[in-house]
Amino acid sequence: MKYLSTRGHAARPEFCDILLGGLAPDGGLYLPESYPQISRAELDAWRGLSYAELSFEILSKFITDIPPADLKAICDKTYTADVYCFARPGDNAADITPVHWLEKGRFGLLELSNGPTLAFKDMAMQLLGNLFEYVLDKRGEQINILGATSGDTGSAAEYAMRGKHGVRVFMLSPHGKMSAFQRAQMYSLQDENIYNIAVTGMFDDAQDIVKAVSNDAAFKAKYKIGAVNSINWARVAAQIVYYFKGYFAGTSSNDQQIAFCVPSGNFGNICAGHIARQMGLPISRLILATNENDVLDEFFRTGVYRPRKAAETHVTSSPSMDISKASNFERFIFDLVGRDPAKVAELWKSVDAGGAFDLSGSAEFSRLDNFGFTSGRSSHADRLATIRQVFEQYGAMIDTHTADGVKVAWDCAGSVPAGVPLLVLETALPVKFAETIREALGREPERPAQLEGIEALPQRVEVMAPDVAAVKQFVVRHVAG
Ligand SMILES: *Cc1c(COP(=O)(O)O)cnc(C)c1O
Repeated sequence: MKYLSTRGHAARPEFCDILLGGLAPDGGLYLPESYPQISRAELDAWRGLSYAELSFEILSKFITDIPPADLKAICDKTYTADVYCFARPGDNAADITPVHWLEKGRFGLLELSNGPTLAFKDMAMQLLGNLFEYVLDKRGEQINILGATSGDTGSAAEYAMRGKHGVRVFMLSPHGKMSAFQRAQMYSLQDENIYNIAVTGMFDDAQDIVKAVSNDAAFKAKYKIGAVNSINWARVAAQIVYYFKGYFAGTSSNDQQIAFCVPSGNFGNICAGHIARQMGLPISRLILATNENDVLDEFFRTGVYRPRKAAETHVTSSPSMDISKASNFERFIFDLVGRDPAKVAELWKSVDAGGAFDLSGSAEFSRLDNFGFTSGRSSHADRLATIRQVFEQYGAMIDTHTADGVKVAWDCAGSVPAGVPLLVLETALPVKFAETIREALGREPERPAQLEGIEALPQRVEVMAPDVAAVKQFVVRHVAG
């Protein structure tokens, strides 16, 4: 399998060549030259597979430059019930992503948050950790991942990379701005290759430092600075798997269709659903849910894509969806405009200059329905009401992001044909967002027994002023030493 850039660069790298990098040289995103088509016979053969087996079958369509036996070993070691151990009581952890029915056979949650950091990013990030280690070992190379986090992504990266040869993680977080639970999750890691740096400032200060260091090309090259951002193709590829798994769990025959509702921010998760559908998985509808930051809902309703300014981005109670610009959206637009890289380059010329584009009335936008999307948005009041209603009606406690999904799924249920099961992707567990759970339910969120008392564990963190030179020195000292 070869990969192309959405903006038309001539290079055609393979999977391992793009694994450790970010954007294509022309600023585009990588996609496979074509989507592998899954035959009915394959679908039939896959229905009974375990998650690890299924991930191998699907990923081997996209990863042709790792010997199959090695890829199989990587999948087997990634998707185990030991790693994804936080299934709801009564659901089977060995399924990795069990379906929790709220209405049997009709409406349920696809549990994607049973990994070590209790959010769906573990689904892909754990695989990434094992792939990084494998490729770096083969090449005798190293990488130093530098990132900034206000919670979710940073902890998923740390749990994925802990103890991996050839990888160090330097993760900046805002000192005193995360919850005690989030701090405990990140700072209690004792692995030598994980460095937590708490910056005495805000998240933006931490992110500015990361940008400044990455813009120093000489430093970046000398100290092998890398990132694990949401545009990484391997993350999208890994996420395709659970759409297949969810389909098999949510239906009883391959004659059936299914619908998914996806709480969305950077369009990474639902992009994987789009690709699964393009591969031939019988997905009837893909329902995209946003919070108050509704840049994607606006596009699917109107054809206008208008990324927001930072000052226009709302801080909400589903913070992992607080985005102003959806970094993976370019992948979908590439398909929508008939895979025309010149068209994508033209549209993103305006986006990259801080502008917008408008496809309303275009031939491309009139074809949108072929892609099966519906969208909707949710607000803080909707989240509270939805968390309450799901708890009272079904006895299930859900997190704020999943609540956005359930609310929009209810709003858009009319777009799903009768008899087609609808699964909402559960993207985090409620214990991560205790404050809003207390506001909605007047009680503490459920906490998995394994995580009782983690706030009392010893923590390993370096507190530092928001100073680029100091962070660089810290990296140099630990890379050299
Ligand atoms: C990252 C994240 C999302 C949004 O996913 P995208 O791939 O960015 O669309 C939703 N919910 C949670 C809990 C997340 O961590």
